[in-house]
Amino acid sequence: MDLGLRGKSAVISGGSVGIGLAVAESLAAEGVNLLLCARDEQRVDKEARRVASQYAVKAVGVGADVTVVQDIAEVVTAAQQAFGQVDILVNNAGTGSSETIMEAGDDRWQYYWDLHVMAAVRLSRGIVPLMRTAGGGVILNTASICAKQPLGYEPIYNVTKAALVMLSKCLANELIGENIRVNTINPGLILTPDWRKTAGILTADTEQTVDQYLDAIAKEHTPIGRFAAPEELADFYTFLCSDKATYCVGSTYYVDGGWLKTVE
Ligand code: NDP
Repeated sequence: MDLGLRGKSAVISGGSVGIGLAVAESLAAEGVNLLLCARDEQRVDKEARRVASQYAVKAVGVGADVTVVQDIAEVVTAAQQAFGQVDILVNNAGTGSSETIMEAGDDRWQYYWDLHVMAAVRLSRGIVPLMRTAGGGVILNTASICAKQPLGYEPIYNVTKAALVMLSKCLANELIGENIRVNTINPGLILTPDWRKTAGILTADTEQTVDQYLDAIAKEHTPIGRFAAPEELADFYTFLCSDKATYCVGSTYYVDGGWLKTVE
């Protein structure tokens, strides 16, 4: 299937590891040029160089904290300088939380609001003019199954990801007239290095191995009984970015091994 992506350009936040990096590689395999941003400049730069050489595309790594207004402006400027126009924006930077609503302070709420919602607002505001130059584009927002089906230990994560889903819908309605398609992806359990790190910490003084711990979580939550590899998710992003998905607008897609317990 020719996805019609060769020569296009994409900006991916949180593109240095995990889901964002897997999406970057999937797009690069189709010939898409990339700008990856993340806070750890050294890591994002190293991954961008590796992807560029492995897939023979242009790839730029930018050190940026997407909760910081000025950093977002620098990402937009870097994208303009690198490509002149942008076809794809993946708002993906994010992280889980752990708190109770009764105990978490306003600063914590504000941080996750900035990370999961305002970063997507600000990057979209900055990148959409570069999509107009291209005659259209695609914005994908990585929310989470937790936007719909909350996990008890992370209310701030659940709330801000739910807000991101609504932002996507509103933005989709606002931009489709300009040939810019906005959609959301709600992943379930995706086995990133961070999951393994957390499992390592939680099992450090126990009889359980990291793999046993992860296996138990997957069996508890998902009918499929396992985590997905990031690559199993990434190709779905690439499809949504492609000319084969031109009628996909304003939707939320679950990639969760059957974890969602309701009918959408
Ligand atoms: P990882 O922790 O593996 O990667 C997160 C990426 O985001 C890294 O590149 C990280 O780089 C970057 N990042 C984090 N905070 C910021 C920030 N303030 N500014 C810029 N970049 C930032 O996460 P995943 O790949 O697991 O998750 C990616 C997205 O998918 C997140 O939004 C997450 O909520 C969502 N998701 C993940 C699931 C999973 O099971 N893995 C399930 C459902 C949703 P750096 O630290 O250098 O900034």
